[in-house]
Amino acid sequence: MQIKRWLTAGLAAVLAAVSVSSVAAADIFVPVRDSISVQKIDFQRDDFIRGMDISSVISLENAGVTFRNEAGEVQDIFTILAQNGVNYIRVRIWNDPYDSSGNGYGGGNNDLAKAKQIGKRAADNGMQLLVDFHYSDFWADPSKQKAPKVWAGKTLNQKKQLLKAYTLNSLNELRSAGASVGMVQIGNEITSGVASEFNDQNRAALLKEGAAAVRSFDSNVKIAMHFTDPQNTGAIQWQADYLNQYQVDYDVFATSYYPSWHGSLENLTSILNYAADTYGKLTMVAETSYPYTLEDTDGHANTISNGNNNTGDNMLWAFTPQGQADEVRAVMNAVNQVHNGKGLGVFYWEGAWITVGDITGKTGDAYTAQWNANHALWEQYGCGWASSYSAEFDPDDAGKWFGGSAVDNQAFFDAQGKALPSLHVFRDVVNGTMDTPVLSGDANGDGKVNIYDVTEIQKQLAELAHLNDTQLCAADVVRDGNLALNDVTELQRYLAEFQVNSTVNQYI
Ligand code: CA
Repeated sequence: MQIKRWLTAGLAAVLAAVSVSSVAAADIFVPVRDSISVQKIDFQRDDFIRGMDISSVISLENAGVTFRNEAGEVQDIFTILAQNGVNYIRVRIWNDPYDSSGNGYGGGNNDLAKAKQIGKRAADNGMQLLVDFHYSDFWADPSKQKAPKVWAGKTLNQKKQLLKAYTLNSLNELRSAGASVGMVQIGNEITSGVASEFNDQNRAALLKEGAAAVRSFDSNVKIAMHFTDPQNTGAIQWQADYLNQYQVDYDVFATSYYPSWHGSLENLTSILNYAADTYGKLTMVAETSYPYTLEDTDGHANTISNGNNNTGDNMLWAFTPQGQADEVRAVMNAVNQVHNGKGLGVFYWEGAWITVGDITGKTGDAYTAQWNANHALWEQYGCGWASSYSAEFDPDDAGKWFGGSAVDNQAFFDAQGKALPSLHVFRDVVNGTMDTPVLSGDANGDGKVNIYDVTEIQKQLAELAHLNDTQLCAADVVRDGNLALNDVTELQRYLAEFQVNSTVNQYI
């Protein structure tokens, strides 16, 4: 009781001393103590996208995969991502990724129905959706831009109408399903063509129809054009010139950036600056990823493994969760360097494409049995990169080399579906981490935790004090990375001995 009276009197004095109206203005993001180390990025844009593509997730869940937070509790993966700072979800859409018998081609069997589920769950967790139309029935990339089956043999004019109608209809359905569509890609890695149209004029004609559909859907939705191979500096800059020459209407110039293949980060920033400076476009990285390990966990070879794509000049980071976080931070930083706030954000590609059954440590018959079980799931649910059924559409590649996940070692979840500490990077880039221990609650830095620290936090919230990073980290006694009145309350409760299960007054 004695303590409480003293506390109340002290608080009254503080509140009398500060201008209450200025309290709790903008969020005050403060450095956090964490198991990984991340240097804060001073973002030019408050809405900088820290996004992730998890297109395969529904097929994985259908195959029995469960995702867990870092405490090991089963939780909706969209909630796990949002709570770790991911603020945007990307999803690919194929028109009809099924063969004539209704068997899925794989790669998540990502049709509009799956995108609706993903969009709804993203929106339920406060995240907008980037819709990535491939305008194909399966993977579209620089080497493949095959039109959907039902568009085969159509004239350009017919294809223009089909593409426009398909785009608008899909967006309307996504909205009706509860998705919050914020951005749309007209094609995926359209460096060489789109929907089986490969000459410059026809490609532009289709891109313009897609863009027109998005504009008519909602003028606030951003239109992105997505290229790749930024290491070919002149060629990708030419794409920006090309879009301008053909008067294609778009907002965001995007590229993939995989460090094993795609050149330096300095070159990446330079290319994005070209589109920003020359044509006033927003820019982003639509896909990136990096391994947290070189081990495979599903029995299907990974794109990056020991002796395979892991030693390039731009593979600068360790193959650990810390190294994975370092790569994400570095790519975000490179995009944030784009002039005049034209760096819109970064999407991580397939950050949850984990194994459907862990082969780690298995040999002989046990390995074979696990591989057969995994293979059966890839075929049944389409949760590998391709199934054997894709042969009908893509006989020369997917139809031959079908199998599981080639990026399970680049996910933010381990082979059991548990979140890795590297996932924190999506939040930690906003806050930065404090890499030496601090005394939680010691906001004024005198080595003690008492009422003077309450005063110090109040003054900081009223912008009458300027605590250093160590003090800010200590002042965030709730430890949510945001200094606010709830930290005052928490500290008061500790001092009044109301709160015993707290890290306050301990080195964290
Ligand atoms: Ca694999």
